[in-house]
Order: sequence, then structure tokens, then C-alpha cells
Amino acid sequence: MNTIEHWIDGTATSAGSTRTAPVFDPATGKRQSDVLLAEASDVDTAVAAASKAFGSWGESSLSQRTKVMFAFRELLVTHEDELARIISSEHGKVVDDARGEIVRGREVVEYACGIADALKGSFSGQVSRDVDVHDFRQPLGVVAGITPFNFPIMVPLWMHPIAIATGNTFVLKPSERDPSASNFVARLYAEAGLPDGVFNVVHGDKTAVDALLDHPEVAAVSFVGSTPIAKYVHERGTASGKRVQALGGAKNHAVVLPDADLEYAANHLTAAAFGSAGQRCMAISVGVAVGAAGDKLVEILERKAREVKVGPGSDPASDMGPVVTEAARERVVNAVAGGAEQGASVVVDGRGLRVPGHEEGFFVGPSLLDNVTTDMAAYREEIFGPVLAVVRAETVDEAIAIINANPYGNGTAIFTGSGEAARKFQREVKVGMIGVNVPIPVPMSYYSFGGWKDSLIGDSPIHGPEGVRFYTRAKVVTTRWPHTSTAAAFTFPTSS
Ligand code: NAD
Repeated sequence: MNTIEHWIDGTATSAGSTRTAPVFDPATGKRQSDVLLAEASDVDTAVAAASKAFGSWGESSLSQRTKVMFAFRELLVTHEDELARIISSEHGKVVDDARGEIVRGREVVEYACGIADALKGSFSGQVSRDVDVHDFRQPLGVVAGITPFNFPIMVPLWMHPIAIATGNTFVLKPSERDPSASNFVARLYAEAGLPDGVFNVVHGDKTAVDALLDHPEVAAVSFVGSTPIAKYVHERGTASGKRVQALGGAKNHAVVLPDADLEYAANHLTAAAFGSAGQRCMAISVGVAVGAAGDKLVEILERKAREVKVGPGSDPASDMGPVVTEAARERVVNAVAGGAEQGASVVVDGRGLRVPGHEEGFFVGPSLLDNVTTDMAAYREEIFGPVLAVVRAETVDEAIAIINANPYGNGTAIFTGSGEAARKFQREVKVGMIGVNVPIPVPMSYYSFGGWKDSLIGDSPIHGPEGVRFYTRAKVVTTRWPHTSTAAAFTFPTSS
């Protein structure tokens, strides 16, 4: 059995770890490798390497850092196919979808290639007689990233290119369910000329996370994952004096108004609900059908859900692969059963799906629930699987009220032909990322990504300008070069 090691100080190493966790191929259900689980002492080793590397990397020139980012970006292009297959084999998503996450993650590297511009400070001349003021930003030191299973390359790429380009060194603790992409990325950074110790990967579970959260030399922690863990990470990390950004779970609603092109809306809802087997933080898991849109929309959604081709991610004919683990499959099956028990209509039932030749794989088919109400568990809980719950509403105001009462606020979308309704929606809805006739409105890398309410703990969205701010600290300098000596003044200085 292959054992996946850590990557510390420019080399693959087991450090002192002896515990392991199994890594499965979700399409076959077979354990394909083991991943090491770090102890606190292994985290210490990685942080020490990052801390040592910060000494010179933190002082490296903008052009040196930019050169590495350009080279790294090229390597991500060259190795896209290989990386996509690694992601698909451990996560289960179809290879083309894995390519999509590489491309969206690469866009953050492209933003980091322009870090010299993003780090420009401001200058005010002659704020007082012979006095100028300027500001500039400096890196924090060693920063850590803790990431979820569902985007094993894109979510870490939301973090480390910006952290590294702004002069920090990085310790990544990826999901233990699909760890290999992170080691591949570490090798690409090394090939791109990144000095040893600037980017490190420590595999592990809660032990490794806690060690990072408590470590006095870790200045900041970026976390993406489920809301309960985001809250825990934020609380423990800030208690030990760190800067923490913590992105949590989601329950994303798509509102469909009667004036929408229902065929268009249903196509997008189907892809956004069942793509990647519903395991996207921006997946649409609730359709809010308004007024007369309802019956017709559900009829089209049913047809389209039945057309989704479910199979192994490596098969180009598959639209949707398995979910990540057997436990995830059971959670989905139970959620559909619970919906039925609580009175939802099961229009399409994915529970019994078997993929020939892959009977042991973690497959579950698309499920469509209608007449779901906001008190049902299938509505309230994040299922994180291929289940689309349709809630009926009478008006756009009612639809907005439903979304605003939901504890999550990551993404949402409205499908309509009315500019007036779309404008009202985007102004009134309490959600961080909004699509108008766009189902998965993931912001481009030069904007920042982050939800509201329980989808973002604290107030620090990720990547783009907010990412640069998060990984740096500002200094404001007031300068005078006196050519005459002045007497000491004991009043508070004001400009003159
Ligand atoms: P998760 O919260 O279980 O795990 C995330 C990370 O936390 C992993 O590295 C894991 O090892 C670690 N972890 C798990 N349990 C822990 C514990 N008790 N103590 C300390 N660390 C722990 O999330 P997941 O199942 O890997 O990913 C799916 C979740 O991530 C969903 O809720 C999804 O909505 C969310 N997500 C959110 C975004 C976003 O941008 N808001 C993006 C992607 C995923």
C-alpha cells in the first residue's frame, strides 16, 4: 500500500508520523493508499522549516516572487491533465470537472503574478510643511491553510499563491480524504524555483489542526470547510492571537421567477445541483420556485435529473461521479429518506442507483424533492450531495424572506427576465455572492470570495484584494528631512 508523506523543507518525508488514514477510490470503493497523520511534533518541524525560510523569502524582491509565480502558473498548465486525474481518482469528480477547478485555482496564481501592482502603497506629499506620508504592507511570517476535500487543488490555491507572493511562508494541512494533489503542487513549486521551506504540506486530522492553531510561530490561519469546524478554528485561532479567516458551509438557493426562461433555468439548476455530485460549496441545493413557475419547472427538472449520466469520474461519458466516502453516501440516502418521511414529494429518487461494474463505489443518483418546507431537515441541513430540494413561494418577496431566514449566506441566484426583480433581489438578499441568471457565481480571482452569516466566520473573505490584505500588515510612515533645527513643541502635532 502506497503511503502519502508530508512535504517539509523541499522534500517528501514521514517526519515522525506513524498514524495513517485510508484514502479511497470512490468509484471502486477500494482503499488505494494511506496518508500519514501528523503529530504536533511533525507540525513543529514544518513550522520550523517555514520560519527559517521566512528569513530570506520575506526579504525577497517582488520580481523574484513574481518570477516564481509565472513559472508555477506554466507548470500548472503543463500538468493539468495529470493533476486532474489525481484529483478525480481520490475525490471521485469527473476529470473535466477537476480540470475546471484547476483552471479556477490557476486564476488566483495569475492574480498573484501581478502582486507588485496589488502591493503598491500610497503617498501623500506635503501633508504639513516639509512632511510626507506613505504606507506599505509587509508579510506576516508563517501562515497556515486548512482545507476541505471538495476542491483539493482550487481551495488551497485560493490561499497559498497570495500568501507566498506577498512574502509569507506557508504550511498547508489539506483534507486527509484526497491529499495527493497537494504534494504534486509542492513539487511544481520546487520546479518553479520556490526556495525550500516556503511551501510545506502536513497531512493530518484534528491533531495537526490543533497544533497549527496553537503554534506561537503561526501568525495567521486560513480555513475553508464546514461551519462547525470553521467556528471552532476561528475561536481557537483568535484565542491564541492569530489572524483567522474561516469560510464555512452553505445552503444555496436559486430563485426562479415565472418570467424566466424555464428551460434555461432548469438546465443551470440541474448542473449546479448535481455537478460534482452536489459537493460544491456553491452548489445549488434549494430551488425556490415562485408562483406559476412551480409545476412547469419541476416537470423540466425531473426530466433533466433523470438524464444525468452517473459513472466513474475517469469515464468521459459521465456527468457526475460518486460522492467521496461511504459515510457521505449514507448521509445523502438518509436525507432523502428523511425528506420523504417529513412530507416532501420524492420526484426523482437516487438512492437505489447502482453503476454496473462499480457496485462497491460510493454512488448515489440525483434526487429531486418537491414541496419541501423550511422546517424539514432536508431543507435545514447541508446535505452536501446530489439532492435538489424545491420550495414553493408565492412572490419574490417571500423567496427573499426564505433566503434571509436561512442561517447560511454563501451564494444565491435568481433566474428572471426582469431587471427590476433582479435589482431588488441583489439589494435585499443577505448573501455574499449573487448570480443573475448565473447559477454558481464564484467571483473571479481579482474579486474576493466569501459568504455572509454562517458561511463566513469573522470578516475576512478570501483571495483577491482581501487576500492581499489578510496576508499582510500595513505601516504608515510620516517623514520630515529637517534642514533647520526647531525647538521642542509639547502640544499634540497638527498640520500647518
Ligand atoms: P470539514 O469541515 O470536515 O474539514 C475541513 C478541514 O478541517 C479538513 O482539513 C479536516 O481535516 C479538518 N477537520 C475536520 N474535523 C476537524 C476537527 N474536529 N477539528 C479540527 N479540524 C478538523 O469539511 P469537508 O467535509 O472536508 O468539506 C466540506 C465542507 O466544506 C462543506 O460544509 C462545504 O460547504 C464547505 N466548503 C465551504 C467553502 C466555502 O468557500 N465557504 C468551500 C469549500 C467547501
